[in-house]
Amino acid sequence: MEKREAKRGRIVLVPIPAQGHVTPMMQLGKALYSEGFSITVVEGHFNQVSSSSQSFPGFHFVTLKESLPESELERLGGIEFMIMLNKTSEASFKDYIAQLLLQQGNDISCIIYDEYMYFSGAAAKEFNLPSVIFSTQCATNYVSHPGMQEKVVENLYPLRYKDLPISGMGPLEHVFELCREVANKRTASAVIINTVSCLESSSLSWMKQKLGIPIYPIGPLHMTASPPASIIEEDMSCIEWLNKQKPRSVIYISVGTVAQMETKEVLEMAWGLCNSNQPFLWVIRPGSILGTNGIESLPDEVHKMVSERGYIVKRAPQLEVLGHPAVGGFWSHCGWNSVLESIAEGVPMICRPFHGEQKLNAMCIERVWRIGFQMEGKVDRGEVERAVKKLIVDEEGAGMQERALVLKEKLKASVKSGGTSYNALDEIVEYLKTK
Ligand code: UDP
Repeated sequence: MEKREAKRGRIVLVPIPAQGHVTPMMQLGKALYSEGFSITVVEGHFNQVSSSSQSFPGFHFVTLKESLPESELERLGGIEFMIMLNKTSEASFKDYIAQLLLQQGNDISCIIYDEYMYFSGAAAKEFNLPSVIFSTQCATNYVSHPGMQEKVVENLYPLRYKDLPISGMGPLEHVFELCREVANKRTASAVIINTVSCLESSSLSWMKQKLGIPIYPIGPLHMTASPPASIIEEDMSCIEWLNKQKPRSVIYISVGTVAQMETKEVLEMAWGLCNSNQPFLWVIRPGSILGTNGIESLPDEVHKMVSERGYIVKRAPQLEVLGHPAVGGFWSHCGWNSVLESIAEGVPMICRPFHGEQKLNAMCIERVWRIGFQMEGKVDRGEVERAVKKLIVDEEGAGMQERALVLKEKLKASVKSGGTSYNALDEIVEYLKTK
């Protein structure tokens, strides 16, 4: 990663201000920086990567004047927030690019923007600059778009209507509007996507055919580029706790950086986990239990029960946890980063998706790769106990683990010299060098 030879042009990166999207884009930034490109990161007013700028020496950070405050996210909901964010950011992004062109001469090689930050496309068009879309979601998500618009999935096997990322997302017309904008490639000349050919080859071919531009699957970026820098501090004490557990005995539970649960569900989970008799490591973020400050507000009996078998942290070093020999399964909300990280370590999953494309990811885990299963319906202690035993103790879980380990090896091969992701990263770097 250190190399950084010849001086190349500037890459302007436009990530979404959410950890799950920022992390892979910054990993891509590091990979491009090591190839000699200058990197400018354009961000809004919250979840700023620049707050951990020491992890990105040499990067230049810019805050857009007009971007929405975080409080609007709660008021509008995720989908409408994204639509508004794009509307309010377009003009100031154009101003910023105009200013950059004046100050630096035209040293911009390319604008690489998160597919949800599509306002960037207008500036690329106006100033005739090359642009590339960056997707932090699975390729199957693209495949689901027409199914969502037309409400049919007949041609989209193995997708079922219930897998489509529609429910729990607010008014459907907003979901469709956002989908249309994201699927519009504008003047982009390629898509870089954080996935791996061996996981999604048919969805990737479909995408390529529909969009008519090259698609570069370069993932998992946490393996191809340097490890992510967390915006939030991680509790390393859980590794010492894991060191004391038996091999493949622990279930690791995390619902990512955004999802929230009801107190009732958390209590049922706590009972089910304890009744399973398996040790568990549980991430409970402040704010992840609706209407509370976090784990502190749960009854004392829960704390007592949990402390006998489990270990709770506010934030885990997830890559290290999944790679730890004591971990035998991952209870996940199925965010795409978590899915890739779990597969990369050969860890099978209990899927409990919340919304959006997490349901698609869960479907792939259960029905395409067969390395886990979904827990549907209400969270109930009996179901939780059965699910944990099925994954960690039963024969069925052993099969899932075996298949997960096979995929782990395939992912390792993809990121090695000559592998598909390695080559795709090489190709996109070569392409950017010509800009
Ligand atoms: N993560 C972590 N520690 C935690 C919880 C999450 O390091 O305690 C990281 C995880 O490794 C992943 C990211 O946060 O890279 C979550 O992204 P994902 O796409 O899985 O879910 P999102 O948070 O976007 O819903």
